[in-house]
Amino acid sequence: MDKLSTKIFRNEFVNTFDGAQTEKNQPRQTPGVLYSLVKPTAVRKPELVAWSDELAATLQIQKPDEQDINILSGNLTTPSMSPYAACYAGHQFGNWAGQLGDGRAITLGEWTSQTAPAYELQLKGAGPTPYSRRGDGRAVFRSSLREYLMSEAMFHLGVPTTRALSLVLTGDQVMRDLFYDGNSAYEKGAIVMRAAPSFLRFGNFEMLTSREEITQLKKLTNWTIDQFFPDIKGENKTIQWFEDIVEKTASLIVEWTRVGFVHGVMNTDNMSILGLTIDYGPFSFLDDYDPEFTPNTTDLPGRRYAFGNQAGIAYWNLGCLASAIAPLFKDTIELSAALENYKPVYFSKYYGMMARKLGLDNYRETDKDLIEAIEKMLVQLKADMTIFYQLLITLPPATTDPELISVHFAPSFYTIPEESSGKYLVNTIQQYQKRISLNQISYKESQELMKANNPRFILRNYLLHQAIQEFEKGEPALFLKLQQAIKTPYSTDHDEFFVRRPEWANDQPGSSALSCSS
Ligand code: AMP
Ligand code: MG
Repeated sequence: MDKLSTKIFRNEFVNTFDGAQTEKNQPRQTPGVLYSLVKPTAVRKPELVAWSDELAATLQIQKPDEQDINILSGNLTTPSMSPYAACYAGHQFGNWAGQLGDGRAITLGEWTSQTAPAYELQLKGAGPTPYSRRGDGRAVFRSSLREYLMSEAMFHLGVPTTRALSLVLTGDQVMRDLFYDGNSAYEKGAIVMRAAPSFLRFGNFEMLTSREEITQLKKLTNWTIDQFFPDIKGENKTIQWFEDIVEKTASLIVEWTRVGFVHGVMNTDNMSILGLTIDYGPFSFLDDYDPEFTPNTTDLPGRRYAFGNQAGIAYWNLGCLASAIAPLFKDTIELSAALENYKPVYFSKYYGMMARKLGLDNYRETDKDLIEAIEKMLVQLKADMTIFYQLLITLPPATTDPELISVHFAPSFYTIPEESSGKYLVNTIQQYQKRISLNQISYKESQELMKANNPRFILRNYLLHQAIQEFEKGEPALFLKLQQAIKTPYSTDHDEFFVRRPEWANDQPGSSALSCSS
């Protein structure tokens, strides 16, 4: 176990690449460099609100004392750290946005341990950097609590994600226009310490190419492969690397689909090169199953980042990455082929996942119709995704009686189904039962498969909303309960939360719809 305030940090990224050394935080363009050194700006009164024991154990980090809390709030940096903000660019909502960069995230250094790979430790909300543009470099408590809990929740669900080590209230106030309607107000400021082997994004590579800094692009690519893809070696490693990113990105989207997660802002600067869920903003789980649902109010006109679009957007984003690394290839034939391979890779993973979710022994070509029928049925019935799949696990074998089927699934419906939808439910479940009867595994094994692939507890937005409201009134009880519940999402331990989204949350801002103001 090591202490944050006495640890010798590694600074491999900073030592390898060119960066701006001035430590000035005035917003500016920084051509020719991959980062700018910048110190966190001190806060008034740091208060530790949450600490991830699991991540601390993985990384062998000692529980923080007062001195360590100063590190978690940006009030203290130690001599072995080289704090920096990374410079990256990206496509936002389909348009080239130019230089973006860490506008409010500052990496302190890389934490090494005997038990895990090196992890970047990064403060989000630690004050202005050269990439803050018009922002203040800060984060509000509500969005920080969301990122802290949700990234840990995703980890426990088994979805690839960046992690969160701590959540600190800064004691400072931050001005935000929550609804983008001209009514700004002060909110509590907070800082999350995030951790990941790397926070590199597609946008880091796009930036170098857009600036025609191809020598740096080559160097960053080779370094990324050596550091994070050590199995890839030899002459063809760049194409193998891209193939691996295609695979990891496809897996990520399939995992989001499995648990019903909508990211909300899949811009290329929010796409991790390691295939992790990164930059938690206006995300949401699905309550009622709706492929057109986007939690992001900024996304509402086009619903570009809606649940059902995520697989297609990932492909589009991979296309941006392919364009960015194209200068590293003699011709683009292999690169195009690797990009086009996304579709078969994605679908093979998707159908495999759906088969497990449904408790099928394996995926057979003929199961495609059943999977499509179930999806269509969930939309028609306005069924709660999580509750529906839990009820599927407990559906008694060989139930084909229409009345029994309707009664069994009723707890998952947000509205009473019309007659035609009710009939569709019965038909689809009968079709499902027929397929289950062909399973080469036992009923028990099929149930276990479903239990392992269908979460029973999900961190619904209304719960987060309620936890934030209560916490701000000085009542942390719900927050503490949720902090426990995220740890065992596949168990029945937290069935007090096994209910549909309550009606009050339907149109509640911050609960069903979220702005990017954070
Ligand atoms: P996001 O969509 O949240 O990933 O943010 C897009 C860009 O805006 C990134 O470069 C962020 O660092 C930057 N940004 C977001 N909020 C702030 C803020 N309060 N201050 C400075 N930069 C910010
Ligand atoms: Mg971002």
